[in-house]
Amino acid sequence: MRPKYPFLIVAFSLLPIEAASRPNLLLVTIDTLRPDHLGCYGYKQIRTPNIDQLAEDGVRFRTVVSQVPLTLPSHCTILTGTYPAYHGVRDNVGYKLSESKTTLAKILRNQHYQTAAFVGAYVLNSKFGLNQGFDDYDDKIEGSSNFGSVVNLNQVERRAGEVVSRAMGWLKAHSQSPFFVWIHLYDPHDPYEPPSPFKEQYKANPYDGEIAYTDRELGRFLELLKQKRLYENTVVVLAGDHGESFGEHKEWTHGYFIYDPTILVPLIIKTIQKETAGKVVIEQVSLVDVAPTILQLLDLPRPTELQGLGMLGLMLGKQRDWQRQAYSETFYPAQFGWSPLMAVRRADAKFIKAPKSELYELRGDPGEHVNRILQRNALAHELNANLTQIESTYSDPNASQTASLSLSPQELEKLGALGYVGMSSHRNAGESLPSGAADPKDKLEVYQMISEGSREVAAGRYLQALPMLKRTIQIEPGMRMARSMLGHCYFALNQYEQAKDSFKEILKMQPKNSDAQFYVAACDYRLKDWTAAETGLNRVLMQDRNFAPAHLYLGFLYQAKGYPNPALAEFQRVLELDPENEDAHAKTGFLLASSGKVKEAVPHFQKVIQLNPQDGEAHFNLSVAYQKLNREELAHQELAAACKLDRKYCGREEKKVPSGK
Ligand SMILES: [Zn+2]
Repeated sequence: MRPKYPFLIVAFSLLPIEAASRPNLLLVTIDTLRPDHLGCYGYKQIRTPNIDQLAEDGVRFRTVVSQVPLTLPSHCTILTGTYPAYHGVRDNVGYKLSESKTTLAKILRNQHYQTAAFVGAYVLNSKFGLNQGFDDYDDKIEGSSNFGSVVNLNQVERRAGEVVSRAMGWLKAHSQSPFFVWIHLYDPHDPYEPPSPFKEQYKANPYDGEIAYTDRELGRFLELLKQKRLYENTVVVLAGDHGESFGEHKEWTHGYFIYDPTILVPLIIKTIQKETAGKVVIEQVSLVDVAPTILQLLDLPRPTELQGLGMLGLMLGKQRDWQRQAYSETFYPAQFGWSPLMAVRRADAKFIKAPKSELYELRGDPGEHVNRILQRNALAHELNANLTQIESTYSDPNASQTASLSLSPQELEKLGALGYVGMSSHRNAGESLPSGAADPKDKLEVYQMISEGSREVAAGRYLQALPMLKRTIQIEPGMRMARSMLGHCYFALNQYEQAKDSFKEILKMQPKNSDAQFYVAACDYRLKDWTAAETGLNRVLMQDRNFAPAHLYLGFLYQAKGYPNPALAEFQRVLELDPENEDAHAKTGFLLASSGKVKEAVPHFQKVIQLNPQDGEAHFNLSVAYQKLNREELAHQELAAACKLDRKYCGREEKKVPSGK
């Protein structure tokens, strides 16, 4: 095939790189980072010395468009160099990157790179598919996965300091070149709670405090590269995944709209060539262009699958005809039953395709305040045609099927704690979008109400969430998500009849919704209607035999009915599916100890304590087990720990019977 951009071949020859000594690659993605909040982009109220230095050593891109204002889909675009309609991941909830896709890590591993990733939040957990091609994928966030308990933020995100320390540990152990390290730092994402001294220094703007803190932590990794004399031969790419809205267009945080505050991101690329240092690219580029550019800089062939354009020519100032239209989309409103949004942006104009489309002339109106769709009809038509062309050129008809992922209630709870609202089977990726769906602009108030309600749910304030969810349902009776959240609230408040009614309403609209089916059965169990509960749980498992909470509840049910062996089998099945499940470990330990298998019970009690050191019952059970194994000293230690946590365990060593609910 004839190369499309012959001048780039010339550009390649300027950078002869021996295959044996390929440069290393460090990719840093900083979540929710607005370019206009960085020193090197002209912001005066922050100190980001490390990122500013990187910009001096590298090329800074002035206008960079994210393809999706959502963490998982945006990272899929960065790491595959393809558009969302091709990689298929359109939202944080309900999708995973298909194994059939080519990732940067897969390409580099095939080229004998050592590959390692360190991610800061559960939304990029390996189960969502971005681990493909990484030898090491460090996504471990300590904490129990107890179903139904409030998920603490510490269980779903970790600070930049911890992520960077893990990455530094890896680098110290693996410094043979070449390597590819990806570091994802989540801190600027809301809630904005920087640690000291940034908390105090940026009291008026804690979002800036998070960025300044992230900069300091990233600086430690860059310093290590320099100390080890690896910095010179390492291509460093720093990018944001999306921006953040602070009330612009009445939007807070990101994901719902695709206006510039959530779509524009920073991008800095430090090459191993001195001549690119300190350059600024003024042409508009896209995150989809990052992966193809990295391959150019590493002098590696580009798989035909990649859709972005290599930017090396631009970076060297050798490409004059770069006229890139940038595509963006959000499917997040579709979670609520409303229309998705799509946009095409060029330097002077932006067209947003919606039930009520919008056109902004950016030169005179960078804040996108005046919709000129009526006055500039011809331009709107032209941009709409370009949008349609981008959509059809860069899509994979099978993507929606292969990227679909149904989530368990626990997984949904974890994503909910990060503020990502969605339902496991609300809208499978393969399902077609509602025609005649509402324009998200017209639903902003309802969206804010349900977002507020979901924040209360995530924080465990169920009573406070109830009025908002009920009001949402009054306005939008067909919104399954609101009914699902309402059902979860009632369930958490032990109001099982009301919870059951909410989930039954969902089943009227969507009879095969596993989540709703499961909760109806769980309510039956709590209401002691064991026959209905057993039938319901088995029905869930017939649809999805890996639905761990249904196995957990079957275990509860069999234990309550006095069948320890089938109960044990169910709890062990839960542990196969979810090795960190605290309930299942506690129950397995108890049932094993009760049947005389004390030695086998010990690791389960130990695991419960590891997951939740404050569990007095687990300390007590472990002490009883140690006593039976004649390990007096350990038994005393555990009993003392149990007694310290709960006085009811004090002085109970004579009883020698494990306690279990
Ligand atoms: Zn993000």
